[in-house]
Amino acid sequence: MFNSETIFLCLKNIKKSIDNNKNEIEKLDQEIGDGDHIFNIQRGINESLNLQDELSNHTPNDVFKKIGMKIMTTVGGSSGALLSTLIIGMSKKYNSEISDQKNITAMFGEGVEAMKKRGKADLGEKTMLDVLIPVSNELRKLSDIDDVKHIAKKIKETAEKGMLSTKDLIATKGRASFLGERAKGHIDPGARSSQLAIEAICNTILNK
Ligand code: ADP
Ligand code: MG
Repeated sequence: MFNSETIFLCLKNIKKSIDNNKNEIEKLDQEIGDGDHIFNIQRGINESLNLQDELSNHTPNDVFKKIGMKIMTTVGGSSGALLSTLIIGMSKKYNSEISDQKNITAMFGEGVEAMKKRGKADLGEKTMLDVLIPVSNELRKLSDIDDVKHIAKKIKETAEKGMLSTKDLIATKGRASFLGERAKGHIDPGARSSQLAIEAICNTILNK
């Protein structure tokens, strides 16, 4: 059931996973960025979790909108601006009349398109979009299926594959682009944190 309670349950599981992998994410951004990515992500998660009581019983679009605005005003770095754009974009497509699968597919698709525009980036540029775009495409492919556990399993695999694909790319957006060939051999920190977040959401569904 897609509601405020399940959104915050997912967020708590995302927090656990990001906190458990803090050192790895920090190291990835030290290698090809400036090292602040873990701080930005943890700040965004904690600020969002603080909204739980205020947003209990609110509709998903309202929850996403308020979380997106909060991240926009409190989180720095490229990831603050880009993730708030993703989440606010998602809030715009909520439709209570359709299935959860179709809703999440449409919302995520809208959010990813908004992020692409905001950051003028696309697939293959060694960013979190290398996780988010394939996940959005896979969601669309699976949106007629009723078996949500099957969808969760597939999405988890897609996110992992996308994250790993960033390793051998050179970056053409963001700080890592200053490194040219030297960025090769390193996974993109934003791709890793996005993949961990998506995995945590999928595990929340799989463990229900
Ligand atoms: P900053 O780069 O400002 O220090 P963060 O460290 O928080 O911000 O975030 C870095 C991550 O942002 C990168 O690992 C990459 O995944 C993502 N990123 C950077 N530029 C873009 C962009 N134009 N589109 C999508 N993601 C981007
Ligand atoms: Mg950084």
